Amino acid sequence: MTTSHETIDAQVVVVGAGPAGSATALRLAQNGVEDVVLVDAHDFPRDKTCGSALSPRGIKAVQELGVWSAIERLAYPISAIRLVTPGKRDIFLDAPGGKTQAVICLRRDMDYQIFKAATDAGVRFLPHFRAKALLEEHGRVRGVTAADGRTVRARFTVIANGAHSKWGTDLGRKREIRAIMGWWKNVPFRPRAIEMIFDRMVEPYYGWLFPETEERVNIGITYEDRDGEKKNARELFQRFLDAYYADRLREAEPVGAWKGHPIVYTYNIGRLFSRGRVVVGEAGRMTHPATGEGISFGMRSGIWAADALRDILLRKVPETAALKIYTARCAAAFSPSFWAGRAFRRLLRTGVLDRAVDLAQTQVVQEIMRRFLAHL
Ligand SMILES: Cc1cc2nc3c(=O)[nH]c(=O)nc-3n(C[C@H](O)[C@H](O)[C@H](O)COP(=O)(O)OP(=O)(O)OC[C@H]3O[C@@H](n4cnc5c(N)ncnc54)[C@H](O)[C@@H]3O)c2cc1C
Repeated sequence: MTTSHETIDAQVVVVGAGPAGSATALRLAQNGVEDVVLVDAHDFPRDKTCGSALSPRGIKAVQELGVWSAIERLAYPISAIRLVTPGKRDIFLDAPGGKTQAVICLRRDMDYQIFKAATDAGVRFLPHFRAKALLEEHGRVRGVTAADGRTVRARFTVIANGAHSKWGTDLGRKREIRAIMGWWKNVPFRPRAIEMIFDRMVEPYYGWLFPETEERVNIGITYEDRDGEKKNARELFQRFLDAYYADRLREAEPVGAWKGHPIVYTYNIGRLFSRGRVVVGEAGRMTHPATGEGISFGMRSGIWAADALRDILLRKVPETAALKIYTARCAAAFSPSFWAGRAFRRLLRTGVLDRAVDLAQTQVVQEIMRRFLAHL
């Protein structure tokens, strides 16, 4: 690695160009904030280990950011869900009229579209900038330094570097969902349907199959290590595949190696800022405790963080007041869903999903289940 002592000045530096960081940078530019620098350890486009499902609230966020049409062109539409319960009930729930409810868009494509919209809007990007330390002066964050010695000094530093971030604020106990996944071609699947399998071997989580294109799917499991035990991820995943996908994988062609990655979550959103610093996305543990969904919460928190920074930088709103509002908006919007996630995890152990599917022979119960799943 060559070292550098270059220093760049900015109004805002955003650390990490995933959905949360790029959404923040893009919204800042759309809000008229100038001198925004976005840094990432990688260059783009880049992959990210992820099921790549964009939920209805994720679609709403990319619509607001003006990048939905670009993403929609690259995405696979979803209008049904196959649900398998711990008691092995198996049901398909279809959206009325086959309407698209969600999409699967490869993170390589989705992240790039948000990132590109940000740089097209005037955000300056520094690739291969592996942030190593925050610059702190007199109790205030003043920017960030990379492993190679480059520094970006800024009035505000947005922390958007995902699950492994060490720069969150007031986060409390770290909770982690474990995940491992793989990719295959030529797996038979029902078009436009995702599959979620709630088996006891991964309780209170689930395994999934998400179609990415007409030919290619990703399959994975989420699970947790409880009471200090450390499960063997590959062994557990193989057991899951043998139980649910052995037949369908017989003729399939694997694409690349299996990949594991944690998902960090919280039930209670604490303070998301300190002087000069704002935390967005998974760096602030804003992912769903039952489903692991994180893309939409990342973008939504990024949009609101950018609005708060606009208020401070362009409308002279006091910093603490604006960032308290940012935290309160995230807490008010996400907490009900996160608490519902906690309740769902508990209910799963009681057999409620089996009973719901037993009752789901009527349109009314199916509609209630669809709505419940959509709002989880
Ligand atoms: C197996 C798996 C499946 C998932 N499936 C889904 C799903 O289907 N739908 C969904 O909504 N969510 C899913 N999630 C969760 C989702 O991937 C994350 O919550 C989401 O990506 C968080 O977005 P983010 O922008 O906060 O962080 P990230 O997407 O992780 O982006 C962080 C960025 O920061 C950069 N970075 C990291 N460290 C540094 C550093 N030191 N310096 C500079 N840059 C750095 C990284 O390169 C990256 O570009 C899944 C997660 C996993 C692990």
